[in-house]
This record gives sequence, structure tokens and C-alpha cells, in this order.
Amino acid sequence: MTEHSLLSLKNLAKRFGGVHALRDASMSISAAGMVHGLIGANGSGKSTLLGILSGQTSPDEGEISIDGRTVTLSSPTKALSLGIAMVSQETAYAPDLTVAENVLMGRRLERSMFGIDWRASNEKAARILKDLELELDIDRLVRDLRPDQRQMVEIARAISMNARILVLDEPTSSLDGHEAQALFEVVRSLKSQGVSVVLVSHRLDELFDMCDSLTVLRDGVTVAEGPLDDFTPDAVIDAMIGRHRAQAVTRIGGTPRADQPPALVVEQLSSPRALHEVSLSVRPGEIVGLAGQVGSGRSELLECIFGTRFVSSGDLAVGGTPHVPSNSAAAIRAGLAFVPPDRKGQGLVLSGSIRSNLMSVAMADRARLGMPSIKTEDGIIADLVERMSIRMHGVEDPVSTLSGGNQQKIAIGKWLTRSPRVIMLDEPTRGVDVAAKAEVHGLLRDIAAEGAALLVSSSELPELLGLCDRILVMAQGRIVASAATADAPDEATLIRYMTMVRA
Ligand code: ADP
Ligand code: MG
Repeated sequence: MTEHSLLSLKNLAKRFGGVHALRDASMSISAAGMVHGLIGANGSGKSTLLGILSGQTSPDEGEISIDGRTVTLSSPTKALSLGIAMVSQETAYAPDLTVAENVLMGRRLERSMFGIDWRASNEKAARILKDLELELDIDRLVRDLRPDQRQMVEIARAISMNARILVLDEPTSSLDGHEAQALFEVVRSLKSQGVSVVLVSHRLDELFDMCDSLTVLRDGVTVAEGPLDDFTPDAVIDAMIGRHRAQAVTRIGGTPRADQPPALVVEQLSSPRALHEVSLSVRPGEIVGLAGQVGSGRSELLECIFGTRFVSSGDLAVGGTPHVPSNSAAAIRAGLAFVPPDRKGQGLVLSGSIRSNLMSVAMADRARLGMPSIKTEDGIIADLVERMSIRMHGVEDPVSTLSGGNQQKIAIGKWLTRSPRVIMLDEPTRGVDVAAKAEVHGLLRDIAAEGAALLVSSSELPELLGLCDRILVMAQGRIVASAATADAPDEATLIRYMTMVRA
């Protein structure tokens, strides 16, 4: 008799255009009732692997088998029919339906002679919640639940559809310590019911607490896999970063003007569930990096400073003048600029022309400064296009025709018409190729050299080590470490701060 793994993914490869998201990724779960951890630096291919596992993405190469039989996971429905369900931050739930309705959504409701038997259906939902030892009122609207409770409802729904393998993509990134513990109670209870769980987490402490086995991905390749007992936290970190990477960083850095007062001062800034008394300052010409996992508070910090997220207490000053964050228009007037992480959503109007996008910040000012003449406008645009070496056919072309790197230059360049004192960027090179990345970094260094203060949030530590003068590490809404890049801080040490903190 041959023993088959419950699940085996072998030699998966997946490209998106020129990007090799997965090169040779494998992962297996030996049996039912196991918790398997998946870890890797940002961009290492975890979500792509999970996309394949849950039937959302089809692999270019590789083989998937369940109980020793080769399967094709051609759609999420197909994956679910084979017992694989995924719960991610983006999982859709119906906010205006009750807990019971959400748990049962997508499956056949109990029917009687008179149509749907709500009582029987509700009892079924209640039983599923009880089996998971979840104390949730089934009649409450999901809209009124906390994020952690909503996630529990999603898990209950997956279980109601008889999932044998539950995939959790960074389930704790938006939870506080207490809520994360509650979630792990549910995972333990699933385990005892024979459900296997694939758990993606950046938190080594969580993985070492919860998992029976681990897979480590680096650059789309499985570099380590095995029972948890084969690993130590330091060995996982070494596998994640690879020894070759430590030396590969060439440092750019800004040109901090130590003789000048800070362009941005943040004091004891707090926001419910996101930030706890964060203080920092950035000098003109300086590039300060924010490192941290998703949910660590680095994106939230930028939003708070820019006035697009609620600030419960704290003080801000821009160029020595106190600024009360209230909305983005006030922030822009105060001299702040913000390049958001999703340039396709907030950063740019993709269907708009290169010209209109580059002029969008200047045009918003026209009420105050007067409408620029076409001639001045042409001059401004020619200037920006040259300065940022934007490669394009003509300025009237839609931005959507440009490469990711050139789009990002425009998302940054549109602010330069205003000479902001402080430019905040979240994931400035997400989804751009290596060459364009270097160009964007060069551009940011030039902008800093002209005297702007830059605050850059990134999930890629090598990017921050190369680009910044100083790196602040965030975890759980706090700054937990700070390092000058000139001192060549050790990547592994910074990752240790990012992954092993528990509030
Ligand atoms: P992780 O979840 O480990 O952060 P991902 O699987 O999201 O990694 O991404 C791996 C690589 O593939 C990254 O370089 C990412 O930019 C790229 N990538 C992922 N999805 C797409 C996509 N739909 N189009 C283009 N590139 C993508
Ligand atoms: Mg991911």
C-alpha cells in the first residue's frame, strides 16, 4: 500500500508577462488535520501559489495532486468541489446579510414544502459555529461585526461547504494580539476536526506556535520545506533572504540637510486599531524608509499624516508649521504629497492622457494660482517628461499605454509641479521591473537632492536598504526599531524585528 500526501503541489511555474512569479515552487501537506505554514519575503510568490491552489490562477507548469490523484484546479468552484477553500483579506462577504445567511451563502438552503426552511437553515449555521466554538449571534448583520469576527464567519462558510483544506492568506495581519489568539483557537479546533490549514504569515512566532510543517519560498522557488522540528527561526530567515542577497544592495541614499530643521515632525500620532503614539521626523533632503509587514501600520501612518485616516491624538508639523490632518486638500496646501500604493486606483487616471495626469495637481491649484497658459503648460510637461525620462509616444496618449515603471514616474512627477516639502510614497516600485525600479530610485534621490523630505513605505527590505538614509521598522502600529543604512544594518536583524514582535 502506498501512502499518499493529502495535497501535493510540484514544480509549479507561473509568469505574468515578463515577471516570473513562480519558477519552481512545491508544497505538500502529508495528512488531514495538519497546519502547514507558508512564508517568504514580499513578492516571493506566496499569493500566486495560493491563487493556483484555490483555482483562481492556472499554472504554466507543474502538477497538483490530492490523495495521490492528479487534479486540475480550473476554477474556485472546482477547487471547492475538491475540498479546498480560501479565506483572504479580500474574500467577499455580504455585509447586509446576517451571520447565518453568510455562513450558508453559496450552498443549498434547507427546503420544506413551503420553500426555504429558515429554521432548519439557521440551525445548521448555528451548529457549524458551535462546532468551531465560535460565539456569534447568527442573527446579527455581518456589517456590524468586527473584522476578526467577519473572518470567522468566512471560515465557518468554508467549513459549511465541507472544505478539507482551508487556506488562510495572512489572516492575522489586521488583528490585534487577542483577536489573533481567538483565530488560532479556531484553527486548532479545525485541526481536531481533521481539517488541514495552509497558513500564510509573516510572523515567525505565529508559525512556530501553530504549524506542523513549513514551506519557505524565495523568488518563486521553494528553498526549504519540511516538518517544523527541522527549522529554527534563524534558519527560516536565512532561507527567506538567501545569503547572496545581503551583499547585493548598492546604497543610494538622500542628501539630508542636518543644518536645517525637519520638514516633517510627527509626535505621538495615534489612530484606533492602527497606530500607537508614533513619533518621527524627516529633514529636507533625507529619505526615511518605513519597513514592516502588511498591517504593521506603515501604510496607515502615511494615510494619517495625509489626513485620509482618522487620527485620534498626536501632533504634526510641516516645515515648522503645525498642521492638523483633516483631508488631502489641506495636506496638499500644507506642502505634503502622497503617492499611493495602487497607482491604478488612486494614483492616476489611467484612461486620461499623460498630459492631464501630469497636470492634475497643478490644475487643482488653478483657482488659487490662476490657469496656466498652454505655453507654460507645454513647458512644464516637457520639463517633467525629460527630467523623469518617461518613455512614450506622445503626451496626449492615455497613461494606460505606458509600462508600469513609466506610469509610476507620472504618479510621482505630477506632484513636482507644486514643489512639495514632504513626499510620502507607499510601495513606490510595486509591480515594476528591475530596470524601471532603478530609474524610480534615481528619480527619488534627485528629488531629495533638491530639498524635499521623503518618507517611503515599502514591503521590500532590499529596496529600503538601497534607497534610504534611515529605516524605521514598524510592527503592531508602533516603531520598534530604527537603523541608519550607512551602518549597513543586517537584513536578518531587521526581519527579526518585523516578524517576531508580539504586543
Ligand atoms: P507574495 O504574495 O509572496 O508577496 P506574489 O505572489 O503576490 O508574492 O507575487 C510574486 C511576483 O509576481 C511579484 O513580483 C509580483 O509583482 C508578481 N505578480 C503577482 N501577480 C501578478 C499579476 N497579476 N500581474 C503581474 N505580476 C504579478
Ligand atoms: Mg501576498
